Amino acid sequence: MPRILVLGAGFAGLWAAIGAARKRDEIGARAADVEILVVDRNPYHNIRVRNYEVDLSEAAIPLAGLLDPIGVKHVLGEVEAIDVARLQVTVKTGKAQEMFAYDRLVLTLGSELVRPPIPGLAAHSFDVDTYASALRLD
Ligand SMILES: Cc1cc2nc3c(=O)[nH]c(=O)nc-3n(C[C@H](O)[C@H](O)[C@H](O)COP(=O)(O)OP(=O)(O)OC[C@H]3O[C@@H](n4cnc5c(N)ncnc54)[C@H](O)[C@@H]3O)c2cc1C
Repeated sequence: MPRILVLGAGFAGLWAAIGAARKRDEIGARAADVEILVVDRNPYHNIRVRNYEVDLSEAAIPLAGLLDPIGVKHVLGEVEAIDVARLQVTVKTGKAQEMFAYDRLVLTLGSELVRPPIPGLAAHSFDVDTYASALRLD
């Protein structure tokens, strides 16, 4: 079965996966005909733009609630390598390493905060770049 592999469940990844599911539906194909698989290191979509809010309860939305009803699969893991020659991606899932083959790859791993090497900065500063870091600040 052909697989569309989406790396990252941020805004871009979700948009791609949900758009692909809509198109699959429009052409009359089923989840058993074309697999759409999303990989993210977190089991939730983080609405990053809301990480500054006092109440963070709506800033992380479980992927199962978003993707299961539309037949989009999702895997919890850390993307470690992309082999474009072999069309496969290495993902660390728990303690194991898994390979996922793809027919189409959507690379939407986003961005992350980079701290300059100022002594003490990493240990003593806070940020709202991710849901986890926003919770830490909270
Ligand atoms: C506090 C804050 C406020 C913002 N306000 C605005 C605003 O008002 N307007 C605006 O336009 N933009 C705003 N932005 C920027 C906006 O949030 C980003 O541009 C947007 O989130 C980028 O979406 P993305 O899908 O490209 O990447 P991301 O949202 O970064 O998503 C990437 C996904 O990939 C996952 N991921 C990354 N690496 C790996 C890996 N190796 N393995 C597995 N998973 C991985 C991450 O967990 C994440 O889910 C704001 C950002 C922040 C932090």
